[in-house]
Amino acid sequence: MEDAMPKLTPAERKLGLGPCEVCGKEKDHTTDECPYLEIIPKGEEGNVCEMYAVVCKGCGLEGGHPGKSWTGCAVLKYCSRCFVVGDHLYANCPNLEPEKRERLRQIKVKHHRLGINF
Ligand SMILES: [Zn+2]
Ligand SMILES: [Zn+2]
Ligand SMILES: [Zn+2]
Repeated sequence: MEDAMPKLTPAERKLGLGPCEVCGKEKDHTTDECPYLEIIPKGEEGNVCEMYAVVCKGCGLEGGHPGKSWTGCAVLKYCSRCFVVGDHLYANCPNLEPEKRERLRQIKVKHHRLGINF
């Protein structure tokens, strides 16, 4: 089985990689390996591609908590209500009634204060 695949050094393997769908970097890592999925260094939020949203790692709030200390990570914009990928998060679904959206937000903020991670 293994012989069917040409053996590549890690450097050669990298050269075969296309642009990462999260940060757009080429020849460095696959989309699944993108470091932004774990953590986005401060100031690099703008490098995240349109299909992905910058959210607070603690509570999942899109855009994080400006003015406070928070850690961001990139998540694929996926709405489990519309089954749409790359457009919006469920919490920001335009097809969700505003009251429900607001409630969802408040629950998340509350959990965040209690230190519960999803
Ligand atoms: Zn990447
Ligand atoms: Zn948060
Ligand atoms: Zn939606």
